Amino acid sequence: MQRGSTLCVAGLYLVLRKQHGHMGWWPADTPDEIVIGAVLTQQASWRNVERALNNLGTQGRLSIDGINRMRTADLERCIRPSGFYRRKAAVLKGFASHVISVHGSLKMMLCVDATALRKELLSIRGIGPQTADSIILYAAGRPVFVIDAYTRRIMSRVYGIDGAMGYGELQQYMSSRLDESAELYNDFHAQLVELGKRHCKTKPLCNGCPVMSYCLHGRRNAK
Ligand code: SF4
Repeated sequence: MQRGSTLCVAGLYLVLRKQHGHMGWWPADTPDEIVIGAVLTQQASWRNVERALNNLGTQGRLSIDGINRMRTADLERCIRPSGFYRRKAAVLKGFASHVISVHGSLKMMLCVDATALRKELLSIRGIGPQTADSIILYAAGRPVFVIDAYTRRIMSRVYGIDGAMGYGELQQYMSSRLDESAELYNDFHAQLVELGKRHCKTKPLCNGCPVMSYCLHGRRNAK
């Protein structure tokens, strides 16, 4: 049982799953699209990422191989809606070049053991822990829990954990309280994002929130 709540972390998942149903992520058709989306979504809304992905799709370049063969200026033009397009184009070009030169294809890279894959991903310029873990979980289908701003905010409010806890520490907090399962981690993360969008916004809308009766912050506000 966690400090400040009568609901364990696995129980939180069950409450959210009952409320939202199975979410099933990532919103993409191929591993290539997941990887490209994971880079473009850094500091961007998903709606703008979709516009950039659509532009790449229209050009027939929505793949790592396609990006590797694309002129940087054309890539920048396509992904401009996602913001920070020059930096993101450089990251995507570097990523694609690495994949093709070291592994030959993204499919081969994603076969690498999860620990080695994470280390390799983090060695690529512009790929941080959240992007690396999104690629490992959603594109490679391996069980790593992705920590994002929604996870941090919700866990801090429901359980009173330190909102400034390090990425690795919070990831360990989540993983150690759940069965090791890519399907579970996938759906749980999607459930947290859904809760964050519907209720646990920057300014929380606690009334009607499905976890209010278990939430440290929500119960405090209800008093
Ligand atoms: S009760 Fe309020 S603070 Fe707690 S999870 Fe729901 S919206 Fe967030």
